[in-house]
Amino acid sequence: MKYSLNGAESASNEIWVIAETGLKGPELSTFELIAKANELAQAKSSRVATVLCGKNPAKYIDEFQTCGVSKIYIAESQDMEFFHDEVEASAIASLAEEYKPSIILGAATVRGRSLLPRIAVLLGTGLTADCTVLEIDNSTGRLLQTRPAFGGNLLATIICDRFPQMSTVRPHVFHKGAEKPSSTPEIIRLPVSSIKKPVKKVLSFKKAEGEGSSLTEAKIIVAAGLGCGGPEGIKLAGKLAEVLGGALGASRSAVDSGWIEYSHQIGQTGITVHPEIYITCGISGAIQHLVGMQDSKYIISINKDPEAPVFAVSDVAICGDIHTIIPALIKELA
Ligand SMILES: Cc1cc2nc3c(=O)[nH]c(=O)nc-3n(C[C@H](O)[C@H](O)[C@H](O)COP(=O)(O)OP(=O)(O)OC[C@H]3O[C@@H](n4cnc5c(N)ncnc54)[C@H](O)[C@@H]3O)c2cc1C
Repeated sequence: MKYSLNGAESASNEIWVIAETGLKGPELSTFELIAKANELAQAKSSRVATVLCGKNPAKYIDEFQTCGVSKIYIAESQDMEFFHDEVEASAIASLAEEYKPSIILGAATVRGRSLLPRIAVLLGTGLTADCTVLEIDNSTGRLLQTRPAFGGNLLATIICDRFPQMSTVRPHVFHKGAEKPSSTPEIIRLPVSSIKKPVKKVLSFKKAEGEGSSLTEAKIIVAAGLGCGGPEGIKLAGKLAEVLGGALGASRSAVDSGWIEYSHQIGQTGITVHPEIYITCGISGAIQHLVGMQDSKYIISINKDPEAPVFAVSDVAICGDIHTIIPALIKELA
């Protein structure tokens, strides 16, 4: 299934965002991508559409009336009661074959990382994962997809010479836009007969344990690093988080040391957050950590090394041992 190998001729002027729906409805990451798609659409005079898949996805239509989406594509099947990458990818690829979007965006979540590559393969196009910047090249109208490369040491801008141009973006890299005047999007349904029967069947769905979601929603995050010295130090940082009513994050080194679960990891290969207050405890400030938290409103860092790079991005630098500073803070705040 390929609708254009290397030309824009047959692509429409639509930008699609693949909606992700969780237990509570469309995820924030979907609206963040729609806001970015609206920005790109202005530069390309395009229309923004979203694609909803599921057992009864039409129930979410109203939630898309004030975000600037002019079309909603719907693929509905009992087989998509739970996320089913194989069925969803084939349904979305069928829609794309027919309506030929020029750009398809999806969230770089566990689901998106499974779904978007499958769609790209079915459409015979490329996919740039984990983009941090998306722009339109004014001279060619192509999508400029920028992402960290070589361990975050440089930023690579990638242009795909096939259509659709596809990218994933991690949640919270972009921001949800302001509400737009209410409008009624055009609804297009994929005929049920076009939806592939799955080879594999999802028998049940169990919500993963862990704090990933509470971290992305937290207004205050205390993040523990290797400088915490071990599980006891992590517990101390956790206590500070608890006293502040916040969530506990971690650097990759703390996770790799086995002191805390991966679901707490913040950074390039963890989650991206932008809380009101981010407090680092014994974190040096490696670029791979900073990319996941540098958009926090107010950054406070505790580190015993006055030269620690994290201080360069901090609003308040507390130079000292976490084992002295954190108990003093807890005493003051509790
Ligand atoms: C491809 C790739 C992806 C990566 N992804 C991520 C990612 O998603 N997230 C991430 O965090 N990292 C990631 N990393 C790893 C990253 O490069 C760093 O190694 C890591 O962030 C360092 O963690 P840290 O700051 O806890 O440890 P360190 O760099 O070892 O820093 C520890 C800090 O604690 C301070 N300290 C020590 N003792 C105390 C004390 N008692 N009191 C106060 N301060 C103290 C030290 O001065 C030091 O600054 C990635 C690396 C690569 C190559």
